[in-house]
Amino acid sequence: MRFHLVTLFPELFDSVLGATMLQKGQERGALEFRRYNIRDYATDKHRVTDDTPYGGGPGMVMKPEPLVAAIEATGDGPGRPRRILLSPQGRLLTPSIAGELATLAEIALVCGRYEGIDERVRDFVDDELSVGDYVLSGGEIAALVVIDVVSRLVPGVLGAADSAVEESFHDGLLEYPHYTRPPEFRGRAVPAVLLSGDHEAIRRWRRLQAMQRTATRRPDLWPRAHLSAGDRALLAEDSDGSVARPRRRPGKRDG
Ligand code: SAH
Repeated sequence: MRFHLVTLFPELFDSVLGATMLQKGQERGALEFRRYNIRDYATDKHRVTDDTPYGGGPGMVMKPEPLVAAIEATGDGPGRPRRILLSPQGRLLTPSIAGELATLAEIALVCGRYEGIDERVRDFVDDELSVGDYVLSGGEIAALVVIDVVSRLVPGVLGAADSAVEESFHDGLLEYPHYTRPPEFRGRAVPAVLLSGDHEAIRRWRRLQAMQRTATRRPDLWPRAHLSAGDRALLAEDSDGSVARPRRRPGKRDG
């Protein structure tokens, strides 16, 4: 999968794309990143990319000519990359949008800065995505969120050992809790079922934990969770807490 990054600050991508999963994805040939510095597409002597807003007001607005020229440089014929503008006014990024993007061969991520872009640039992109209801100072960190979320779904990026299949949001649930050695840490024991070697009991306990966590932490997700008849039976069976008793949350007191 090829990502085209349209930005005023290409160097902001270097450290994240140069390490761990995203670096390995490139080494394995599953990912490719091309950077387009918007300043290189400004045609005036001073390479100006922003200007004051018509109508007055604070801040600067990104000028349309260099920005659209940079967007078009990512490809402009049939089969060109899907052009996505990062913007707090876009559709909120969800697992299903990430899954849809992961099927594409090429995506262009367009990063704004300052007060944002000249409104007319919106006619030159296909989609607009937000990473959350807050305002970042630029689109680069939002683009990195999209890259990370989408890349881990691209075949060949994650090793088989780190499969994304069982993670939070898969089938609409948060993931079950994880434990590793030691068996006891500062008075907190690992749930006995995980040490039991009983795989079916472990599976049931994990599934129940995932359901209970989702219901309590994310009641907004719970009504849309994909529950099987077996899941519902498990919940009913646990109405007295017999399958999994709630663990106390780690407190600050004992540090
Ligand atoms: N004045 C604009 C925000 C500009 S923030 C407004 O109120 O809508 C500058 C740039 O940061 C934006 O152009 C966009 O590319 C990026 N950005 C800020 N918040 C974002 C978010 N939540 N999701 C995606 N991109 C965001």
